[in-house]
Amino acid sequence: MNCEELQARLLAGEPVAAEGHLASCAACRSAVPDLEALRQRLADPALWEEPSPELGDRVVATVVGAAGDRRPVRGRRWIPAWVAAVGTVAAAVVFVGVVRPGAPDWEVELRATASGSVAVAQVAGWNTDAGTRMELEVEGLRRVGPDAYYELWLTSPDGRHVSAGTFRGPGEVTLWAGVRRADYPRIWVTLEPADGDPAPSGETVLDSEA
Ligand SMILES: [Zn+2]
Repeated sequence: MNCEELQARLLAGEPVAAEGHLASCAACRSAVPDLEALRQRLADPALWEEPSPELGDRVVATVVGAAGDRRPVRGRRWIPAWVAAVGTVAAAVVFVGVVRPGAPDWEVELRATASGSVAVAQVAGWNTDAGTRMELEVEGLRRVGPDAYYELWLTSPDGRHVSAGTFRGPGEVTLWAGVRRADYPRIWVTLEPADGDPAPSGETVLDSEA
């Protein structure tokens, strides 16, 4: 069994012998958590749209070609079961990628801290190996600049702050933080004067705990 076969089996939810390929392949062992997460996500019927039969055939043909299989493809009986499984997974990934850009791992609403303010921000977050990617939809904030900007912060329960970047007003904004939301649960926005001071200004305009 090679890496592709083993990973196709894991994705298909089929049993994999612990003493087989997995025991000798660190790459496959390290891929197990991601494959299991993907398998569970693929099992969610909400992710699926009905694929056309032609696309399924094209994906399988592409996978067979990429796998270096020199046998002619004369219908599905020539295609090993694991290739069909990879084709199914590839089709699913295509549909997940094209139809839905992957559901966020978490979402939170930031509300205005000042009474009378109508500002609000919806934050969707993705936990990645590189850090936490956040997509903000900001409404109701006054546009500022160039002498000021808004800054997004993540704060841990013991009060450590991490900046996730700055922006100038309402709209869609993508920001990153090098920490996990699980460790830094509070998310908030300050209005910062462009004065070179990297610390939070104290003028909070939006807060997940407001
Ligand atoms: Zn392997």
